[in-house]
Amino acid sequence: MLIDGHTRTCGLIGNPVEHTMSPVIHNTLAGMLSHNLVYVPFHVEEGCLREAVRGAYGLNILGMNVTVPYKSLVMKELVQIDELAEKIGAVNTLVRCEGGFKGYNTDMPGLYRAMCSEGIQIEGQEVILLGAGGAARAVAFLCASRGVKRVYLLNRSLERAQAVALEVNQKCGTDCIYPMQLTDYHKLPEQRFLAIQATSVGLYPDVDRAVLEDEAFYKKIHTGYDLIYKPSDTRFMQLVRAQGGRAYHGLKMLLYQGIIAYELWNDISVPEEMALKVYEALKKEMKIKD
Ligand code: NAP
Repeated sequence: MLIDGHTRTCGLIGNPVEHTMSPVIHNTLAGMLSHNLVYVPFHVEEGCLREAVRGAYGLNILGMNVTVPYKSLVMKELVQIDELAEKIGAVNTLVRCEGGFKGYNTDMPGLYRAMCSEGIQIEGQEVILLGAGGAARAVAFLCASRGVKRVYLLNRSLERAQAVALEVNQKCGTDCIYPMQLTDYHKLPEQRFLAIQATSVGLYPDVDRAVLEDEAFYKKIHTGYDLIYKPSDTRFMQLVRAQGGRAYHGLKMLLYQGIIAYELWNDISVPEEMALKVYEALKKEMKIKD
């Protein structure tokens, strides 16, 4: 790749950023589209977020992704916030605009596009959502805004599940999110569900654990979607398959949140065949075979 006086810069701000896969997505796309654009990770120390955002603007940076722990904190450093991101309360993409950056959330539409691409439909479904952290909140918003029939939101801390359910139900004008204690899974109705795994249990290097181990729970799942992509075959996915369900990892969610960010920065729409080529590049980088 040739870097010259016209090269535009995009990047990722977070802490840590050393293990990010986002440069693979954006630099592959820039190469395929012959865009003179480079994407780099920026490790931002605690207390330096304001300087990072202002500095990015001063340096004429085109756009940024934002990761842990700054997805909510960054909101007060922006000149505009997209309605969806405002509602979710988290921003993972900054787009340069007049006087600063506008914040977007591409995690939620990214998950939706990933699910569509796998042929998973959420409209009208009954869903089990495991977790009530930042990612689970975005999933709860996605479900509530896409006409899911009911979401059983199971979390270790019931208070956190209740808080997320209350907020999402209120903001979306629904009562479809139903909070439950994780250990009460045996109280779920006798039927099979789409289950979305949004806890951090099972994430590398904790690869031998799932948030629930009881096979009776997995008998209730026809499709299991784990947001974790490292490892690419989680214990949760193995337990779903062992009871006859279909199982997916979260790499396509990562792919599409990146694709949507790239589309926003460059005001283009990335064709599906190109997105899938980027996905192949991601899988190669992560040594995933399937
Ligand atoms: P987070 O805000 O820290 O939330 C963690 C969640 O996991 C909470 O619900 C927490 O329950 C639960 N949890 C943690 N340890 C547990 C344990 N031992 N037993 C039961 N529950 C436990 O994290 P996050 O940002 O939401 O991320 C969650 C996962 O999603 C991570 O694995 C992350 O890698 C993945 N993710 C993937 C993508 C993607 O693009 N594919 C994007 C975002 C996130 P309590 O509330 O009870 O503590």
